[in-house]
Amino acid sequence: MILPGLVDAHSHGHLGGSRMLLMCQLNDCKTVEAVRVRLKEFVDKHPEMERIQGIGWDDATFGLEGPKASMIDDLTDKPVMLIDYGHHSYWLNSAAMKLKNITKDTPDVADGVIVRDADGNPTGCFREGSKIYFEDLVYHFNVEQYKQAILAYQDLFLSLGLTTLYDPMVNLDYGSENVMQAYSQLDKEGKLKLRMHGGYQVFADKNPLADIDHALELREKYRGKRFDIDTIKILLDGVLESRTAYMTEPYSDKGDGYRGMLRFDVDTLAATVKKANEVDMTIHVHTIGDGAVTVALDAFEKANSPAEKRNAITHMQLVQPQDFDRMAKLGVVAVANPFWFMKDPLAHSKLSVPYLGEERAEKQYPMKSLFDRGIVVTQATDYPVTTNINPLFGMQCGVIRQMPGQPETLLNPTERVTLEQMIKAATINTAYQFKCEDTLGSITVGKEADMVVLDSDITACDPEKISEAKVLGTMIGGDWVYTSK
Ligand SMILES: [Zn+2]
Repeated sequence: MILPGLVDAHSHGHLGGSRMLLMCQLNDCKTVEAVRVRLKEFVDKHPEMERIQGIGWDDATFGLEGPKASMIDDLTDKPVMLIDYGHHSYWLNSAAMKLKNITKDTPDVADGVIVRDADGNPTGCFREGSKIYFEDLVYHFNVEQYKQAILAYQDLFLSLGLTTLYDPMVNLDYGSENVMQAYSQLDKEGKLKLRMHGGYQVFADKNPLADIDHALELREKYRGKRFDIDTIKILLDGVLESRTAYMTEPYSDKGDGYRGMLRFDVDTLAATVKKANEVDMTIHVHTIGDGAVTVALDAFEKANSPAEKRNAITHMQLVQPQDFDRMAKLGVVAVANPFWFMKDPLAHSKLSVPYLGEERAEKQYPMKSLFDRGIVVTQATDYPVTTNINPLFGMQCGVIRQMPGQPETLLNPTERVTLEQMIKAATINTAYQFKCEDTLGSITVGKEADMVVLDSDITACDPEKISEAKVLGTMIGGDWVYTSK
């Protein structure tokens, strides 16, 4: 079966790539000794690295006190920073604390914890907001390292039939242009195969309008054959897991009336949308809660932005019924994450139901409601948040909304859609999102030859087996960029 090249409409490629290639993987290390062994291996393998970063340690291994610098100080003289698997805590060795001048006198922060010993000395474990003291040690790499990371994830994506990608935050590297430089250099060297759309994130409290002008300068500086910075990214609310998604109705667990967090007010967001659209940048808004969806639509309405601007909202874990019609009317693109369309056995009962209540929890991740209104729906992984990034798996989840053979994971079957709709979400609809529908998104004479060849016809198989099809080859612009051996 031949399909048009598949598109991932929101995927943090360079973060996933750096994580895969440049950080010590600790996810399966459940004892201090296991962490030490893995870390030592990594340090020995990477003499070129000035600083060591790792990810995946588990608080359950250490108890409330958390891990200590002294547990790893003898392994290397280089600064070491290790993130826990949930991205909420950080483990520094003494060299890292010394580098950042973190001492007994470093003050506590309101939104975080510096774990200290009886004498008040930091032990090496830092939680949440205390990260401000060493922020530039976290996910910060040089241009050469980013280039390697991009090539590594590119190989993975090409092998899955993906040909176009949107990387939402290419500017978030502590003021450096390293990520953009890496993409641009690879593009010039002819090594960037994927068609890359970059997002530039702006913040409500950091003069977003002026920042859009800066984004334009960077766009001119770095755009090339396969790389462009054509989108302004907005983080409007948080996530359900940490009770920061912005809800229309209060969270159900505590009865405290709390509705979550909003990072932009309507007026600031509307002004940002207007400005971005005026200079031909598309807006891409992270909205998890239904309250955030409403605010985003209010801002689009206020900015009076026409559908041809292709402004998008992404995630949409919950949507108020009347907002589907507003999305259709405003021509907003819905960037969905079908990879999450199921009840995770643990997260659903421990998190979704307590936070949302049974009724709301059942309404999570609408899909058919979007298609029924004629809204342009696209498919995105949010890699590396999502680990199984096979686009065929995303299509399968959109169709069956459960894990194969596990009926207990079925989430709201009334929102199931057809495979044809899911194929559109991963091809022509996503081409529309990036204003490329005239040249990409379908197999048509005159369009660019971006295609993927599968070993079987996914329209003819059991829907539970769609993701079992294998990619035999991926073609971009007429060139084979991947062939299976
Ligand atoms: Zn994301």
